[in-house]
Amino acid sequence: MKVMDADFSAGAARFAPSPSGRMHLGNVFTALLSWLSARRSGRRWILRIEDLDPQRSKAEYALHIEDDLRWLGLDWDEGGMDDRGEAGPYSQSRRGEIYGEILGRLERLGVTYPCFCRRADIMATQAPHQTDGRIVYAGTCRPERLGYGESRRRAVSEPHAVRIMVPDEEICFDDRVFGRQSVALSGHCGDFVVRRADGAWAYQLAVVADDALMGVTEVVRGCDLLLSTAQQLYLYRLLGFDAPSFAHVPLLVNTGGQRLSKRDASASLESLRARGARPQSVVGRLAFAAGIIDRPEPVAPTDIIGEMDWNRIKPQEAILTPEID
Ligand code: GLU
Repeated sequence: MKVMDADFSAGAARFAPSPSGRMHLGNVFTALLSWLSARRSGRRWILRIEDLDPQRSKAEYALHIEDDLRWLGLDWDEGGMDDRGEAGPYSQSRRGEIYGEILGRLERLGVTYPCFCRRADIMATQAPHQTDGRIVYAGTCRPERLGYGESRRRAVSEPHAVRIMVPDEEICFDDRVFGRQSVALSGHCGDFVVRRADGAWAYQLAVVADDALMGVTEVVRGCDLLLSTAQQLYLYRLLGFDAPSFAHVPLLVNTGGQRLSKRDASASLESLRARGARPQSVVGRLAFAAGIIDRPEPVAPTDIIGEMDWNRIKPQEAILTPEID
């Protein structure tokens, strides 16, 4: 793999897949746009393995993701399973000590509290993709409700999650694709979990710690994480870190307007590769769906770096044309 002569002053971008299955075209779409934007702007491109959930993550899938990225021609400068780079480890499962330090900082600010609700464990390690039926936490275990003495006493003897108290205000940010966003955390999610009762780290804490400490200046990911950005920006503010810019990638649909499902064989890279698809035709279809090129013709990622422009990517579903091989 070629290590780019990166301009370190430009910062970094990252692709942060969860190794819970093989790549599908939705992941590839995100990876491609993130890579093109990084190469266009001279940022380093980091591959970070988001394997916080021990039940769902497998090293074997992470290796497949690396193989698929190489096949597509998306080379990374830092990270991956061999931990190349200065800001590692690059797998979240090995960053517990760092997250502990970050949680300590939040605790010292007095913005956390122990939560004894069983529901706190649900979903926290996973990125809250908007289809998961997330609930707004009512603040049941806030110490002022439970009683400060009771909260402290139970925290010593009972397993508990740790939550961040959210403010009663709107968090505003500009997304490079979806424009101005304004999210009231109290109505969107309520106080959110940063560590589960079983000790597992929550996505929200890990992603902020990692992006900040890895020098990430541009976050590109699927649009189902658009509103999560507000939770992360709140953590950036509390921790005194500079926030990166955010670009959320539209959902991919087929020509019939249906969302490409993970189970849809035509959207899985494994089956596309098994059917003999060429990487350049996959890249061409995705670049066309994004509006970066005018026809869905085969292209290598390196051929279209100059075409990458966030203004071309519209905040609406991106239509994937049928296979051209
Ligand atoms: N690990 C998340 C996923 O696989 C992405 C989170 C992010 O990019 O912030 O969807």
